[in-house]
Amino acid sequence: MSFDADVIVVGGGLAGLSAGIVSNREGLSTLVLERGEYSGSKNVSGGRMYVHALKKLVDIQDAPLERPIVRETYLFRCGSKEVTFSFYDPDSRNSYSVLRAKFDPWLAKKAEEEGVLISYETLVYDAVREGGGVTLRTNRGDLRAKLVIEADGVTAGVSRYLGVRRLDPDFLMLGVKEVVRPEVLPEEGEAKVLVGFLNGLLGGGFVYVNKDTLSIGATVKVSSLQKEKVLAREITEDLREKMGIKGEVLEYSAHLIPYYGFDNLPPLYAPNLLVTGDAAGLLINDGFVIRGMDLAIGSGMVAGQAAKKVLESGDATKTQVYEEMLKESFVMKDMMTARRAFQLMNSERLFKTYPDLLCRVMSRMFTVEGERRRLMDVVREELAGYNLTLSQVLRDLIKVM
Ligand SMILES: Cc1cc2nc3c(=O)[nH]c(=O)nc-3n(C[C@H](O)[C@H](O)[C@H](O)COP(=O)(O)OP(=O)(O)OC[C@H]3O[C@@H](n4cnc5c(N)ncnc54)[C@H](O)[C@@H]3O)c2cc1C
Repeated sequence: MSFDADVIVVGGGLAGLSAGIVSNREGLSTLVLERGEYSGSKNVSGGRMYVHALKKLVDIQDAPLERPIVRETYLFRCGSKEVTFSFYDPDSRNSYSVLRAKFDPWLAKKAEEEGVLISYETLVYDAVREGGGVTLRTNRGDLRAKLVIEADGVTAGVSRYLGVRRLDPDFLMLGVKEVVRPEVLPEEGEAKVLVGFLNGLLGGGFVYVNKDTLSIGATVKVSSLQKEKVLAREITEDLREKMGIKGEVLEYSAHLIPYYGFDNLPPLYAPNLLVTGDAAGLLINDGFVIRGMDLAIGSGMVAGQAAKKVLESGDATKTQVYEEMLKESFVMKDMMTARRAFQLMNSERLFKTYPDLLCRVMSRMFTVEGERRRLMDVVREELAGYNLTLSQVLRDLIKVM
């Protein structure tokens, strides 16, 4: 059987472009298929990228990064009360706000300059294993490769077409985001994490400061959205109001986010298939950081290297080496580190009980009405009101540490 390429990458987002670049550098004939008119046209992201993986992939000097994030702010809300923590490091260049509609085309151009072939407006709608490889059915006709690198995002079409897995709504969150041109723009890059702002929905909010705009949005458990019967569009409107952000809404988007955690990850490989990025469920939300973009780039890079090893072995069905290599990389190591935080992120305590508790304790700390209680006694009393003990809270704290 003749093949159109050694490796076909399905999806021209961060994972797919990274895989394409590395696979091409490894000397494999590589084709990237992207359903959008251009890379980035279908991508949604709240937009804060940790750039360590990107720096290993390409020179980032001319990358269209928005602003370095130099201020990290946590806001906990309960009713009209608010608790804020902030950390400022003017020299931090570890993460940047990004707008994917600008960023992905830049990375795609880098890939093309290196000779990676990207076929746009090419939608894969089915896949079958045959003749020792995979045939992908696309709107432009069938394409065959010995090995497919799947980078088609959270709905993982290729894995499903090949019967490797099914989609489980229990492991999905909905991300909603607006890009707003505010009347007043902060002067420096900032990431705000908002806890307790979503009217009882299980999830958290965020605000990132870009060059000329703000990205404001939330990630919410799909089941919680169904239970509370809230329209996704209303979440960002409400957030904007609560944060007092006034300005022109330039863009609104909603997208699913994989939320599997290390212990529930879907298959990362199958015969003739390596799965990367969101398609592989690689996302970390440990309460301090949301990371999908650097894991997409990292897993894509490892897949490109693994593709070389698989094809050198002469048997494209033997793809386990990819998982072994991924385990050695920061991607799986960090997924593993965040495994316990994942349990906490799934609990109602984090989004409802703790913000309330924090506000009540802070409120009593700053109130003087005659006899004053010791802080520890206040904490114990308030915990009792929620049927919680100090050791339970400490156990939760340890999960995110
Ligand atoms: C609201 C929101 C906020 C987020 N905030 C952050 C954040 O602050 N920091 C962070 O690191 N991560 C964040 N993430 C997660 C991050 O966006 C993803 O983890 C990352 O984009 C995954 O990259 P990917 O390449 O795997 O998938 P995607 O970016 O989804 O790319 C998949 C690509 O495949 C293409 N494609 C899909 N199906 C097909 C098909 N059948 N045929 C051909 N092409 C196809 C798509 O058009 C797309 O270009 C956020 C996500 C959302 C939704």
